[in-house]
Amino acid sequence: MAGDELSQRRSKIASQLRPQRLDCLIVTAAPNVRYLSGFTGSNGALLIGDSGALLFTDPRYEIQAAEESDCRVRVVRGPLLRKVLDAIRRKRFRRIGFERGRASFGEYATLHEGLDLGSTLEPADGWVERLRMVKSPGEIEAIRRSAHTNSRAFERAVRRIRQGMTESDLAAEIEYQMRRLGAQKPAFETIVASGARTALPHAQPTSEPIRPNRLLLVDMGASRDGYASDMTRMLYTGRPGRSVKELYRAVLEAQLAGIAAVRPGVRAGDVDRRVRRELRASGLDRAFSHSTGHGLGLEIHEAPRLGRKDKTRLEAGMVITVEPGVYMEGSGGIRIEDTVVVTAGGCEVLTPTPKKLLEI
Ligand code: ZN
Ligand code: ZN
Repeated sequence: MAGDELSQRRSKIASQLRPQRLDCLIVTAAPNVRYLSGFTGSNGALLIGDSGALLFTDPRYEIQAAEESDCRVRVVRGPLLRKVLDAIRRKRFRRIGFERGRASFGEYATLHEGLDLGSTLEPADGWVERLRMVKSPGEIEAIRRSAHTNSRAFERAVRRIRQGMTESDLAAEIEYQMRRLGAQKPAFETIVASGARTALPHAQPTSEPIRPNRLLLVDMGASRDGYASDMTRMLYTGRPGRSVKELYRAVLEAQLAGIAAVRPGVRAGDVDRRVRRELRASGLDRAFSHSTGHGLGLEIHEAPRLGRKDKTRLEAGMVITVEPGVYMEGSGGIRIEDTVVVTAGGCEVLTPTPKKLLEI
């Protein structure tokens, strides 16, 4: 990550301090610390003031923090936030912003108890998350690589499906192939569901064998260089009948309508409404039980949320998923999901895998 991109991000946060009447912001959420400092370790805290930033971590990460981050680094023993408070005291910061929605109760208690008289803790939620919504060209390339790796892992794993293989076997094969192809890990727990279990939107793979003449749902994402991808594809173990084909076509049409609605200026909730309208025309809107999609990047679920109530206007550079699904308890479900980037003229689908119901 280029140092000037990191320092620009920190400047954007620092420039919000004064208008929001804060002296500093304490960043504790790991993806936010990474976004602003480049540091990828699991134990870090970033203190951002008007005149610069300080990164706190423990001795395990001394070498790594110096390598990854362009910030001044304080290596400390014990709870990081106690040392952050020491720095705050030295700098005479009074109004202290913290990530209320991200901090644990323990972190909050440490801050609250260690605060000087006359200083106040102020919630400053979503500052970094809002900045993270619009990706830089470098980030978009990272997500593109992640999506590409994910799709290649899918192709390889599908070729290895054999009689008697269980849902768990296939999930393991998928994750193995991801790593072989350059991903560091899956971006989330791989979902493999077959038969009636496809009706569970977040099914965990089981030791059930994948049987003939069944629907098979695969929802998978790679994490590559820190960036996530997300894709759902449907397979059929045999020749699907007419009702399955019709259901698949209806969901695909809704998904394509959703993608066609993605462009700058459109509200996230409008894309969701567009997808629902399409499903209503086929009488399937009641079977669509989740929102249409979500932003992704350093995390698998980021802002905006493509749900009814989200009024965020899409902007070029946002990366989101479009993933309608219909679920019928006892019989099965169908979901189709792509990762797309909003462009000046509309959007580009980053998921290269074709979208036909794959017969195996
Ligand atoms: Zn997914
Ligand atoms: Zn998703």
